[in-house]
Amino acid sequence: MVLKSKVAVIPCDSYDQGKVSEAIEKGISLLGGWECFAGIEEKLLLKPNLLNRADVDKAVTTHPTVFEAVAKSLRKTGYEAIVYGDSPGHPGSVEKTAEFCGIKEVADRFNITLADFSHGKTVEYTRNRVTRKFELCQGVLDSDAIINLCKMKTHQLERITGAVKNIFGCVYGLNKGAAHAKYPDAESFAQMLVDLNLLLKARLHIMDAVVAMEGNGPASGNPIKMGLILISSDPVALDATFCRLVDLDPKLVPTVYYGQVFGLGQWKEEEIELLGIENLSDYGNPNFDVSREKTTHGKWAVFDKLKVLARKPVIVNSRCIRCGACVAACPVEEKAVFFPENRKESGKGKPVPIYDYRKCIRCYCCQEMCPEKAIVVKRKLL
Ligand code: SF4
Ligand code: SF4
Repeated sequence: MVLKSKVAVIPCDSYDQGKVSEAIEKGISLLGGWECFAGIEEKLLLKPNLLNRADVDKAVTTHPTVFEAVAKSLRKTGYEAIVYGDSPGHPGSVEKTAEFCGIKEVADRFNITLADFSHGKTVEYTRNRVTRKFELCQGVLDSDAIINLCKMKTHQLERITGAVKNIFGCVYGLNKGAAHAKYPDAESFAQMLVDLNLLLKARLHIMDAVVAMEGNGPASGNPIKMGLILISSDPVALDATFCRLVDLDPKLVPTVYYGQVFGLGQWKEEEIELLGIENLSDYGNPNFDVSREKTTHGKWAVFDKLKVLARKPVIVNSRCIRCGACVAACPVEEKAVFFPENRKESGKGKPVPIYDYRKCIRCYCCQEMCPEKAIVVKRKLL
C-alpha cells in the first residue's frame, strides 16, 4: 500500500500577523511538529520567493507575515541557526530585494542573517535523470535543511509556480538564464527542476496562498484572494493540491507530472491525505485564471511543436518604459528580444524592444522580469 503524502490546508483569511501565525502553528502541529522535519541542531535555510522588487500587495513575493510566522515558530521551538536567502531573477543584490519586499526587516528582528547567495559552486548530482551539474548558491551548500516558503502563482512556462519551481532560486544567479537556454521547453525545464529538488531535498514546503497571483504570472499577474496556507514535506503533493484548488488537472503541470515519474513525490488524489479541512472544493476557485489548455496531447500540441500559433511574448508598447530588463533577461546568446537600431520614436527617445521569434525559445524570462506588466503571452500567428 502506498504511504499517503500529507498536505495541511489551513484557512487564513488575511495577512493579519496573529491569523497567519495561528495558521502556521496549526499546520505544523497537524504534521507532527518541526522536529519531524529538522533536528534542533541543524542550520536551517528559509527560502522565500523574492522574484523581484515588487510591492508586497502585488503578490509577487512571499508575504513577510508568513516569513515572520515561520521565524517566530522556529525560534519558539528552539532552533538557533537560521539563515535566509533567494536568488532573485534580476541583477542586483539579494539584500536590497529582501529589504524592498519587507523580508529583511523581519529577518533582522529575529536575528536571521542573509546566507551567501552572492557566490556559487558547481555540484554534481550523480543520480540525475537529465541534469548532472548544478551551480548552487554557497548559502544553500552551507545549510543543513531548506524550508521552502513558496508563493501560489501562475507561470507562463510551467502553468504554475509553487513548491517545486521555487527551489530554482537556489541556483546561483547568473546561471539561471543558462538553464533556460539549455532546457528550452516546459517539459525539459521541469525535468531539470525535479532533479534539482531531488538533489536538495528541502525538508518542508510552506505555500503562501492567502493572496495568490492569477493570470499573467509570475510577476505581472493579478492578486487574488485564496485565503489559505498549504504545508507539506512533499512538494509534488503540495503543488497538486494547488492545482485542484484552481480546477487545473495536476498532470498537465510538467513539474507535478515529472515530480511523480522521477520519484520526488505523488500527485494522485488517492495518494494524498489532506489535513485541516474536510472538503478541498469548499476552498477552491474554479475561475482562477490559469492555462488549462491540453498542450501536451491536445489540439494545440502540433502547432506548439511547429512554433506556428505558439504562445509568444508580446510587448504592449503603451506600458513599456524602455528599461531593458527584458533584453537583459533573455538567455538566448544573440538575444531574441532587443532594442532595434536606427529606429526612433518621436518624443520618446529609445524605441520599444522588438522580438525575433525565430530565435525565441519561449522561456518567458522577459515576461517574468518586466517591471511594468508590459509583456503578455498570447497565441499569435508567426
Ligand atoms: S517590455 Fe518591460 S522589461 Fe522590456 S523594456 Fe519595456 S518595460 Fe522594460
Ligand atoms: S525573447 Fe523572451 S521568451 Fe523569447 S527567448 Fe528571450 S526571454 Fe525567452
